[in-house]
Amino acid sequence: MNPQNYQDIIKNISPFGAKLIVVSKYRSYDEIEIVRGWGQKIFAENRVQELVSKRDLHGNDISWHLIGTLQKNKVKAIIPGVDLIHSVDSLSLLQEINKHAKNNHIIQDCLIQCKIAAEDTKQGFLAQEVHEILSSKEFEDIKNIQIRGVMGMATNTENKTQIRIEFKQLRQFFDELKRDYFSNNNSFNEISCGMSDDYLIALEEGSTYVRIGSLIFN
Ligand SMILES: *Cc1c(COP(=O)(O)O)cnc(C)c1O
Repeated sequence: MNPQNYQDIIKNISPFGAKLIVVSKYRSYDEIEIVRGWGQKIFAENRVQELVSKRDLHGNDISWHLIGTLQKNKVKAIIPGVDLIHSVDSLSLLQEINKHAKNNHIIQDCLIQCKIAAEDTKQGFLAQEVHEILSSKEFEDIKNIQIRGVMGMATNTENKTQIRIEFKQLRQFFDELKRDYFSNNNSFNEISCGMSDDYLIALEEGSTYVRIGSLIFN
């Protein structure tokens, strides 16, 4: 546990007006409660089952975000009760989330996960696919989802220049989507990028949500 790193992150993000999401995957109940004690409100998990069981244990004044792959058959388990889903990567997943949001009479906030990394393993949409979906008839029928912005993960590399270029691309793509589909929608205003090793670069490139785990817990 590293309270000094936590305080440094809070200090570093504040001039940018960005928000800190503490990534609590694999962390114990006690570890999460310690970070909560420092005043942290937003936590994220990358697996549905872990999110659901931690949500049950910690009470409901934590804001839970999902940042990992979401399978369609797991959507029912997390809705309602997840404030932001960062990892939407297909139209059929959007439709499934919409169905459960509608059944629960809520509007579910989601981000479009975009592939910015050079690696094949990173999930997410290609730009062309996002344009196809947002301009489709199917998307018009999705009424119970608010798309809040975009999420991306940079390549796992020491090369800071490459990471910066990828975050810049995410920012440019956000601006393009804003212009083409969300110009009248003030809720399309979030860019989720930056982790322990690259969050300072992400802030400089326009991140509004940094997702940090190891820097705080190790
Ligand atoms: C684990 C994870 C993080 C946090 O990574 P750290 O390097 O521990 O800060 C951020 N985003 C996603 C999607 C993750 O899976």
